[in-house]
Amino acid sequence: MSQSYRVVIIGGGITGTSLLYHLTLKGWTDVALVERTELTAGSSWHAAGGFHAINNDAHVAALQSYTISMYPKVAAESGVEIGMKLSGGIELACSAERMQWLKAEVAWHDMMGHEGVRLVDVDEIVDLVPIVNPDGVVGGLFDPDEGNLDPNGAVYAYAGAAKKRGATVITHNRVTAITRTPEGWRLDTEQEPIFCEHVVNAGGLWARKVGHMVGLDHPVTPILHEYLVTEDIPEIASYVGAMPSVTDLEGWTYLQREQNGALLGVYEANPLHWKPEGADWDFGMSLLPPDLDRISDELEIGFRRFPSLEKAGIKRFVHGAFTITPDGNPLVGPVRGLPGYWAACGVMAGFSQGAAVGLALSNWIVDGDPGDDVYAMDVARYGGWASNDDYLLATTRQFYARRFLTTYPHEQLPAGRPLVVTPAYGELKAAGAQFGATWALEVPQFFTPGEPDFVHEPSLHRDNAFPYVAAEVEAVRTAVGAYETGVYSRYEVSGPGARAWLDHLLAGRIPKVGRMGLTPMLHPKGTLMGDLSVTTLADDRFWLIGSYYLQEWHQRWFAESLPESGVTIENLSGRWLGFALSGPQSRELVSRLTTEDVSAEAFPFMTARLVPMGDFEALLARVSLAGELGFEITVPSTRHEALWRSLASAGADLGLRPVGDLAIDSLRIEKAYGIWSAEFTQGYTPGQTGLDRFIAWDKGDFVGREAALAERESGPSRRLVTLDLGDIESDAHGDEPVWLGDSVVGIVTSGSYGHHVGSSLALALVDTAVVERGSDVEVSVIGERRPARVLTEPAYDPSGSRMRL
Ligand SMILES: Cc1cc2nc3c(=O)[nH]c(=O)nc-3n(C[C@H](O)[C@H](O)[C@H](O)COP(=O)(O)OP(=O)(O)OC[C@H]3O[C@@H](n4cnc5c(N)ncnc54)[C@H](O)[C@@H]3O)c2cc1C
Repeated sequence: MSQSYRVVIIGGGITGTSLLYHLTLKGWTDVALVERTELTAGSSWHAAGGFHAINNDAHVAALQSYTISMYPKVAAESGVEIGMKLSGGIELACSAERMQWLKAEVAWHDMMGHEGVRLVDVDEIVDLVPIVNPDGVVGGLFDPDEGNLDPNGAVYAYAGAAKKRGATVITHNRVTAITRTPEGWRLDTEQEPIFCEHVVNAGGLWARKVGHMVGLDHPVTPILHEYLVTEDIPEIASYVGAMPSVTDLEGWTYLQREQNGALLGVYEANPLHWKPEGADWDFGMSLLPPDLDRISDELEIGFRRFPSLEKAGIKRFVHGAFTITPDGNPLVGPVRGLPGYWAACGVMAGFSQGAAVGLALSNWIVDGDPGDDVYAMDVARYGGWASNDDYLLATTRQFYARRFLTTYPHEQLPAGRPLVVTPAYGELKAAGAQFGATWALEVPQFFTPGEPDFVHEPSLHRDNAFPYVAAEVEAVRTAVGAYETGVYSRYEVSGPGARAWLDHLLAGRIPKVGRMGLTPMLHPKGTLMGDLSVTTLADDRFWLIGSYYLQEWHQRWFAESLPESGVTIENLSGRWLGFALSGPQSRELVSRLTTEDVSAEAFPFMTARLVPMGDFEALLARVSLAGELGFEITVPSTRHEALWRSLASAGADLGLRPVGDLAIDSLRIEKAYGIWSAEFTQGYTPGQTGLDRFIAWDKGDFVGREAALAERESGPSRRLVTLDLGDIESDAHGDEPVWLGDSVVGIVTSGSYGHHVGSSLALALVDTAVVERGSDVEVSVIGERRPARVLTEPAYDPSGSRMRL
């Protein structure tokens, strides 16, 4: 007999069971979990069960804190013992630089509102964990919200609590095929078929194969991981209370108490994948034989750091696999073109992130919205390119091996690159471009002309890119700079219904033919879904321009409201490319390439039209990226390289300089211009970020209008401001706390040295109730509190006269 449910989750590990429970919390009980063999039978049963709240994304970190907070509740509700020990954890620093890095981490915890995180000295470390050999240790960080639990207990607790609330758990029944039906999905299984409206891929080590069943290739792959458990250690046996776990950042190992012994895990420098396409279907609850050769160097360091381990003898080795994605965060959410299919996979740290995924995805399935900004784990943050096997294996290896390494601002990692390049890549490289990757596309960060052997050396302070960036900023402010606009996404929206659809989707005014405008795109709840520019080429033909890396995410959002007929969207990203010229000489440079009259009268600010450029047409737009007179030239990609050559030769006597992302950051922050993922995110509102000035309040209904009006009525709780930190030796970069006395009153969204104004600057969202423009605050810069002044206006050209020249 066939069965049917509203939601079926494939996979009974910590992710699937946590989601099952969270769906029941939201009142959905017509939900089932289908498991191939036993619950926990993937990675979950042999995990070390450690948990922590730290993540490189603040929103995911907050959700990890939520995960930790859920365990006692779920244990109580289910009655299943989970052995949770909130022991706290210590990260060891073995260099002054690492200690500085930990100071910055304490500031990050302050920004997050995590209490009790503090630096500890060597004596306290040894007091807290007597088996630490302090040789070479200069200090550490103590986080009270770390600990470990019994992973099996946690999975069964979630499943038990969900069942008590009415959910169904079906074990020993593998899903063998997934097909669309008019009502939803049909799952063929080893038993009877199961029908459902929503199907969730929480297949863990098999998730890539489960994705293949619906024609998807998720960028997720298993990688091996090993830990050992020792026999009893006298110092641990006699330890009273929960002994903090220890992560030896320079030593590649983590240690936690395991009964009267210790568990030592290794993130080795030379990791190995296992079954890149996913585990075999008949892989049981088995372990792989220990591979000591692979981890021997790190083990040696571990035994030096914790000498009593060597004496104790090894009780067992655990060698298994977990799944990993290129950036180490999960893949969660809906997929464009597959309504009712949901990803909940790539969960590398399931015991820190299980409830995070459960909460976000249950909100998404039930309410149509994850409830928070979960872009950092959104399945739409990757395109098809990420599943290229070479890329996937190289980037996941890189992530694993760098798990404990110091991270630096402006650091660009090499794995899997270059994967996607623009036609002008070679020319720009020859001009000295130092590239970074955005959504796999190579994008110039800065240029070192005439220095082919230059090597970028990232630093917590200013790095050796600094003088080059300064020169690029100066070129833009005094002559002309050219910024490659491959980093933009472009969509052509056309058809008889195009204007009406855009008018409803976007909060700003749709410009007249030949004009362009900036507009926020809102969620019905009033938060931001985009900061787009819209260009009207004809009454039924428009271009939307956004960020290249948001292509999947934006297109998924467009698809939700696209009418069945009358509107066509074509993704032109990568097919049309160009350069943004900024600086007082940009008009002269453009006039040398086209017969079009580009004078201030004939081509005023925010004009955009197709113009002749030699034997072809280019889209020319008068727009400012850096607060200077500016023009963007966009051409079919086949002409991109030629366009660069024309610009380079026509601009040589005008002082033209190619400029990269770092110069643009400095220039835009001087002008207080925000960008997506920093000042503008789906967690913020138009009122908070100043994007409300682009809302056409009088145009009638649009998505998010009611909520935006309510915010206008009440006033935003936070406001975007520029902070001037003066002449200091390092800069803020984002996620640093803003202090007023002992209270955190804001968060830095981005920061840079303002090369033209000669001061370190930051943009920050501050509490409107307590922070006045013009007042004095403090900002943590790599962990040190620095005085800062809240500026009353942008640091550069507040009247905006220079871009209107
Ligand atoms: C040695 C080791 C130590 C670890 N230590 C920690 C740690 O300390 N802390 C931490 O947070 N994480 C740790 N992890 C990682 C952690 O184990 C994983 O993040 C977590 O288990 C992932 O859970 P999951 O539910 O996403 O996937 P899984 O546990 O792999 O579960 C997926 C489930 O889906 C089922 N399934 C797949 N396909 C089908 C199908 N077609 N039909 C039906 N069922 C299907 C499988 O049988 C499996 O039970 C460790 C991992 C390893 C290997």
